[in-house]
Parts: sequence; C-alpha cells; structure tokens
Amino acid sequence: MLALKKSRAALLQYPAPYSATRMSSTSQHSPGLVIVGGGPSGLMAAETARALGLEVDLYEAKGSVGRKFLIAGKGGMNLTHGEPRPAFDQRYGQRAGELGRWLDDFDADALRCWARSLGVETFVGSSGRVFPSDLKAAPLLRGWVHRLRESGVRFHVHHRWLGWRDDGALRFASPDGERFVHAPATVLALGGGSWPQLGSDGAWQTLLAERGVDVAPLQPSNCGFDVGWSAYLSSHHAGAPLKPVVAYWRDASGRLQSRQGECVITQTGIEGSLIYALSADLRHAIAQQGHAVLELDLAPDRTLDRLCRDLAKPRGHRSFTEHLRRQAGVTGVKTALLHEILEPAQRLDAAAIARTIKRLPLRLQRPRPLAEAISSAGGVRLESMDDALMLSAMPGVFCAGEMLDWEAPTGGYLLTACFASGYRAGRGAAAWLQRRSR
Ligand SMILES: Cc1cc2nc3c(=O)[nH]c(=O)nc-3n(C[C@H](O)[C@H](O)[C@H](O)COP(=O)(O)OP(=O)(O)OC[C@H]3O[C@@H](n4cnc5c(N)ncnc54)[C@H](O)[C@@H]3O)c2cc1C
Repeated sequence: MLALKKSRAALLQYPAPYSATRMSSTSQHSPGLVIVGGGPSGLMAAETARALGLEVDLYEAKGSVGRKFLIAGKGGMNLTHGEPRPAFDQRYGQRAGELGRWLDDFDADALRCWARSLGVETFVGSSGRVFPSDLKAAPLLRGWVHRLRESGVRFHVHHRWLGWRDDGALRFASPDGERFVHAPATVLALGGGSWPQLGSDGAWQTLLAERGVDVAPLQPSNCGFDVGWSAYLSSHHAGAPLKPVVAYWRDASGRLQSRQGECVITQTGIEGSLIYALSADLRHAIAQQGHAVLELDLAPDRTLDRLCRDLAKPRGHRSFTEHLRRQAGVTGVKTALLHEILEPAQRLDAAAIARTIKRLPLRLQRPRPLAEAISSAGGVRLESMDDALMLSAMPGVFCAGEMLDWEAPTGGYLLTACFASGYRAGRGAAAWLQRRSR
C-alpha cells in the first residue's frame, strides 16, 4: 500500500518540471551522459537524466529512433495494463521482486500520466489493456522526440556502437567512419534480439560478456512453436484462427494450468496471444524434456458427457466431418486437427473422439527462432548490477529495457518494464555522476 501511495505521488509529479528538479549545482556544466539505443527505455533514460540536469547525447544505430515502438503500435498500441498491483508485478514471474521495485518509482499510472503530458490520453480496453485513445504509437513518439530535442537531448542517428576502445572510449561506426566518444557515464538500452531488422540484434551480448558481465543467452519469448504438421494441414489451414479454446499445460513446477484464449495455426505449428502467454513455461518444458505437451479443449462450451452422448448417435451414411459438425459443433480447422491426431479406428469411437475434442494433445518440438518472437527472455542478469541498474563489473555503465534478464507476457507489461527501467537507469546515472563530481 505504501508503495502504491509512493507511486501515485510519482504519478502526480511526472514528468517533473525540468527547472524544479534539476540538480541545482549541475544545470549548466553538468557531466555528460551517453545513452546508446533509442528505444523506449533509452528515450526514457534520456528524458529522466535530462530533467535532472545532465547533458545527454543519445546514439542510435538506425536512421531514426523507436522503430520497435512504432511496430508495437501497428495493431493498436498496447502501452500498459490496468491490472492493479501487486498482481501486475507477478506477470514478471521470478523477477517480480526486482521489477516491483522499479514499478514503485514508475508504474502503469505513471506511464499513462507521461502519455498525457504529451497530449495523448489513454483508455483501458475490455481486456484490461491500456491503449492511447487513437491506438497509435506514431503521435506519441513524434511528440516525445520533439520534447526531448527541445529539452536539449542531442540525437546521433546512424551511429552503431561497437564496444569500447582500450582507453575506455565508446566506439561507434558512423557514416563518417569510426568515432570515439569518452563518456563519464553510459546507459546501454540496446533491446533484445527479436525483430532484428528494427535495430536490436543482440550483438551486445558478446561485447558485455567479454567485459565480465553475466549475460543469460537471449531466447525467444512471446513466440510461436513448431509442431510439425502434415503437409495437408500446413498447406490448407496455415493462418486459420482457433477460437475459443482452452489450453492445458504444466508450469515450471509441474502444476497443471489452464487458460482460455485464441491462437492461430501456422505452417509449422501454432502461435497467437494464448500461446505467447504460455511461452515461458513451454520453452522451459522443451529445455527440460526435449518437447512440451500442450492440450487444447476445442469445444469449451460443451461437456465431455454431452459430447460422448451426441457423438454416439448413429452416423448413417454421413462423413466423419459432417458427423462432427452436427453432433459436436466442430468445423474447419478444428476438424482438420482431429483428422491429424486420431487414428482411423479411433474415428469410429465416440468416447475417443469426445476425449480428443476436450484435450487435443499437441507435441511442441521447439520455439520459433528469436528473430520472429515478440520479445526476448535472457539478457544481462540482474544479479550483475546494483539497484540503480549499474553493472558491477563496469562502474558508470548502466543498462535498461529488454536487454535485461526479465520476461513478461504481452499486454503492455513489456513496455511498462522498459519505461520503468529506463527511468531507474536515468536516475541512477544522474545520482552516480553527481556523487563523483562532489
Ligand atoms: C511486433 C511487436 C509488437 C509489440 N507489441 C507490444 C505491445 O503492444 N505492448 C508492449 O508492451 N510491448 C510490445 N512489444 C515489445 C516492445 O516493443 C519492446 O519490449 C520494447 O520496444 C523494448 O524496448 P527497448 O528500449 O528495451 O529496446 P528497443 O525498442 O529494441 O530499442 C533498442 C534500440 O537500440 C538500438 N541499438 C541496438 N543495438 C545498437 C548498437 N549496437 N548501437 C546503437 N544502437 C543500437 C536499436 O536500433 C533500437 O533502436 C512488441 C514487440 C514487437 C516486435
């Protein structure tokens, strides 16, 4: 409750007026902060540090910032989630404790207030997800970059960070050749490894590991999985939605879990919001056992008894497909899946059909590649940094965003953590520089 009150206080103040919150002694000749990576976490670190009086230079490999943020807004920008805390924190699984501390300073309400400060109102959709009123990311990003420029943040696009020179200077590949930048403090906000065409390709993993930073290898999160369909199913039903269905699976501690939602059959397997939400557990099972078992209830609104009774009615000359349609309400891709799973003899057994409709077993072979995933798991281990997100192995170097080792389902939890960690790293860097300049 105390944390909630604190975060509401932060919300009312956010974004703090620059003049009021700048560190008084550093407003003119403050030491500089270099931010590498212009995604939401890097931009938030820049905004926070600038508001605290630092000179801020932001370097970005691509020709513009926030490309993944813009893509995230394509199907309706899902900025955060209306779920109250502490349930909100639990979406970060094993990292709920650490993420909860970041959210104490900058939570979903603070994020909505930040959007409002850019003239963008938000609303809570029926699923609890929070969207900008126009559902778009572009106006938000445009207004934000404009405000950052006005405040004095200097942007350097087409600058790809390559690591450090022996004397500690940051190395950048730029259109004018290699550039070296000495930074009193640095925030790395380089993103994970999904959708690398948007800029975050995970190349930083080696650069940090070489410097003694503990990095958990990046893995796909919020991703699809390969099942290995027959040629018929993939050629005739790829792209078909499965809705509504209930998924049954075992979590990392072996407990049976279930969840209703929607998914989509792909050429090689299955994806969609329901599958993304289970991806951490499914990935874990595959790592442990070489495969994961996912069971789908294709007819959540009918009981097993009713299906057994109805499917036992005489079929006459009707085909298996027609019998399923009439007696179980099962059609289209659901029928194709039953064809895929049931042996010919089982198609004559009403009880076996009914059981399979209620628990269609799918053997998931592997997650789809990281490049296709919505987000990454793994990254810089939180144990290798202090509470302000500074690397223990590299004093003065902070990290933020998806490059840190946490994961969360879609629904706004990803962006919220990116913003919250950017806020924390920006403040941490400002405090560290101030301590050093005393
Ligand atoms: C299709 C899609 C939809 C999504 N939808 C949502 C959603 O609705 N809600 C939600 O919460 N999340 C969503 N996400 C996830 C969200 O967009 C990311 O979690 C978030 O953008 C990560 O922010 P970040 O700042 O950590 O990294 P990024 O946004 O990846 O930014 C990292 C930046 O660093 C730059 N960079 C990388 N390496 C270098 C280098 N060597 N030198 C210089 N610059 C470098 C990159 O070019 C990039 O601009 C979605 C993701 C995808 C792919």
